[in-house]
Amino acid sequence: MPNRERLQKQIQRLSLADKQALQVWLAESIEEESQPPDTEPVTGREVVETTIAGRITYQSELVKCGKSKCRCATEGKLHGPYWYGYRKEKGRLKSWYIGKELEIADEAESAKAEGE
Ligand SMILES: [Zn+2]
Repeated sequence: MPNRERLQKQIQRLSLADKQALQVWLAESIEEESQPPDTEPVTGREVVETTIAGRITYQSELVKCGKSKCRCATEGKLHGPYWYGYRKEKGRLKSWYIGKELEIADEAESAKAEGE
C-alpha cells in the first residue's frame, strides 16, 4: 500500500481523542470485513438458497437476463437458479457469478483471483 506511510504521518498528528475514535472505527471495520456479508436481495431476483463458507456468502438465485421481450420479463419466468458469491472487500460488497453448481473457493484461491 503506497500511501500507508503518508497516512500514518497524518494519523500521528491527530489528537489523542481522534486517534481513539479512529481506533474504534477501524476495529469495527476490520470485524465487518472479516465476516461473511449480509446480502440485500437484488431487485427482480429470488434467493433460493444461502450458504456461508469462511468470509463468503453464497447464494443460489433466480435472475432476469435484462431482455425486455424474454419470458423472464413478460411472464416472470426467471432464469437459473445460479450461484453467486458475496464478500466484503476493501470496504465494499463484491459479488461474482459462480454457475449452476456451487463451487466453494478456498480463501487462497479467491484472494489470488482478486489480484492480491
Ligand atoms: Zn430472460
